[in-house]
Amino acid sequence: MTEKFLAFWLEESEGRVTGSVQELETADLPPGEVLVRVRYSGVNYKDGLASIKEGQVVRQYPFVPGIDLAGEVMVSEDERFAVGDRVLCTGYGLGVSHFGGYSEQARVPADWLIKLPEGLTMREAMILGTAGFTAGLSVDAIVSAGLTPESGPVLVTGASGGVGSVAVAILAKLGFEVTASSGKEAEWDWLKRLGAAHTISREEAQEPSKGPLGKSRWAAIVDPVGGAGTGERLKSVRYRGVLALSGLTGGGDFATSVHPFILRGVTLAGIDSVQCPLPLRLDVWNKLAADWKPEAIFEHGVHELPLEEVGGALARILNGEAVGRQLIRIS
Ligand code: NDP
Repeated sequence: MTEKFLAFWLEESEGRVTGSVQELETADLPPGEVLVRVRYSGVNYKDGLASIKEGQVVRQYPFVPGIDLAGEVMVSEDERFAVGDRVLCTGYGLGVSHFGGYSEQARVPADWLIKLPEGLTMREAMILGTAGFTAGLSVDAIVSAGLTPESGPVLVTGASGGVGSVAVAILAKLGFEVTASSGKEAEWDWLKRLGAAHTISREEAQEPSKGPLGKSRWAAIVDPVGGAGTGERLKSVRYRGVLALSGLTGGGDFATSVHPFILRGVTLAGIDSVQCPLPLRLDVWNKLAADWKPEAIFEHGVHELPLEEVGGALARILNGEAVGRQLIRIS
């Protein structure tokens, strides 16, 4: 079967990438066992990078970006999925090496899909998207290490962004005393509405300490910012605490020493949402649909946009101007 449909199409000309909504046909889609009628997608930092040549996320244009999608199965050649099933996909090659979610139809390998967990609508799943899932994985690293609200206060960096804002909402819901670090002072009240007990500046969240260890301050840190600040933050993690590191908005490199690890038993937990194994993937999505469901984000943190406005949404996230989650209504 082939049908015409709309997609956000990135093209390269003279070293510059531009995007526009174009008409495609089902036959233009890459191979895969399941054809999905996409209802919603989201906007992540990586989607922003996919839309610029220097982002080095997409190797070949023309391309349909969008690393997240939720929709209904239209055609399935895999016994795990039936026509009409509500499914979601994040990560793997979606929107990176394989046409992604900014498209009314997407054809994907069945191994990349999961059924929408009970307790989440397609819209809610895409409000969370890769950013929310990454926040969920970060919280999982913290609670799996045995940390509880009694262990002490927790810090979330890049708190006004996608990963950060969802992490604030989940941790607050679980009863943790959350300090949200944000460079956007105008959003500090909003972060309190999401559940943050305190707000601090980016500078305070990476205050340099002279020695190999700083003040023992945080039981855990959710850190989607990375960069030099991560090295400083490691020095402020309490005994047997966890720093869950997921991102690089603040840079790719940091310096550290053995001291936080051998004197305080600190764990540096690496967070990857892209190749995350299926059992953990399902476990975290099920928690996001139940006990960890961050209602505060659904109530206060969503900017819903039509497919035609994807270009502006991508520019905002690249410029560090996005607040909360930008949701794209596809069909
Ligand atoms: P957003 O752009 O929504 O959020 C990033 C936030 O970081 C911004 O809102 C801002 O928060 C802060 N920030 C921006 N620029 C700087 C800077 N120069 N220095 C310090 N802080 C800065 O992005 P996402 O939440 O979608 O992604 C965050 C990071 O996590 C990205 O690096 C992304 O690539 C990574 N990521 C990794 C995943 C994984 O699987 N490991 C999955 C998803 C994302 P504020 O103004 O409040 O300080």
